[in-house]
Amino acid sequence: MTDTAFARAVLRWFDRHGRKHLPWQQGINAYRVWLSEIMLQQTQVTTVIPYFERFMERFPTVEALAQAPVDEVLHLWTGLGYYARARNLHRCAREVVEQHRGEFPRHVEALSALPGIGRSTAGAIASIAYGEHAAILDGNVKRVLARHYAVDGWPGKTAVQKALWEYAEQNTPKRRVADYTQAMMDLGAMVCTRSRPACEQCPVNDSCIARAQGNIEEYPGKKPKKEKPVKAVQFLMMRNPAGDILLRQRPSQGIWGGLWGFPELSLEQTPEAFIEDHYGVSVVEQEPWDTYRHTFSHYHLDITPVLLQLEREPERIAEAGSLWYRLDQPSEVGLAAPVKKLLRQLADLDPRQLSLVG
Ligand code: SF4
Repeated sequence: MTDTAFARAVLRWFDRHGRKHLPWQQGINAYRVWLSEIMLQQTQVTTVIPYFERFMERFPTVEALAQAPVDEVLHLWTGLGYYARARNLHRCAREVVEQHRGEFPRHVEALSALPGIGRSTAGAIASIAYGEHAAILDGNVKRVLARHYAVDGWPGKTAVQKALWEYAEQNTPKRRVADYTQAMMDLGAMVCTRSRPACEQCPVNDSCIARAQGNIEEYPGKKPKKEKPVKAVQFLMMRNPAGDILLRQRPSQGIWGGLWGFPELSLEQTPEAFIEDHYGVSVVEQEPWDTYRHTFSHYHLDITPVLLQLEREPERIAEAGSLWYRLDQPSEVGLAAPVKKLLRQLADLDPRQLSLVG
């Protein structure tokens, strides 16, 4: 199917099934199209209709809207959500009155320079109100095109967006552009719906790639989950000759705030040198255990526990916020979960043993 055939099929379907009685489709002008388009962003047609009618009654022209106090606009908007839209609506009305003498511009570029009007909304106003050859790519149209052409990837990504715009533009016909714009919005809202699309009623089903592949649900691609950053740390499990383990209380802010844990070191630092420096004792033996991952809501922490046998008990440990934890008579202190687990493993070791397998 060629692209013109795509547009022809969509228009034929629109003639029979498209919506032609929506309030903003009567007495069409740029002001009505613009107002409906802004209201319809992220909101269903049935919700928008009474709001549109109230707005038109109170603000029949863009001048009336521009002159109204913003509070009144916000008041009438109450319930539609996304209040930034209402504020931009009011700012846009003022700009149209002040800079364009109350006439919405005809072309996409000038329209998109107005507050709250993106490229797709500009395309809708230009095509529906002025019959200009301009494409749209709202959520509904993205879904139809992504499925029909099996465009991989999340439409929020620039490359995917670009591919979808290309399909949108090459399919926008020269004639009946207003009907085609409305037809594409209707097709997405009524047939190629988010879940369970009615493909048997779709005018372009015989050329739909996702349908032929049997994987419609994969289009449009989902937003990729953000990769969590990975941090790494060494847990120093310092053991004195009596077999007790040094714990330190963590600062009250930050992860495991106020709980007790092992002294920590970055991967670049050497535990023996650090212990000599800070505690003035040498390490007689050390054993790194296997690294494992602990996951927080915002990052992964790769923990490498290192068991360090100290030559003697350091003198400089009596500072507040440190204690020797007796494995046979555990102190009642709050422990972070990974620390608790490691202490349990240490308690299972023979005091002379360094590693679990050892
Ligand atoms: S055939 Fe189905 S999936 Fe493909 S465009 Fe039509 S409704 Fe959407």
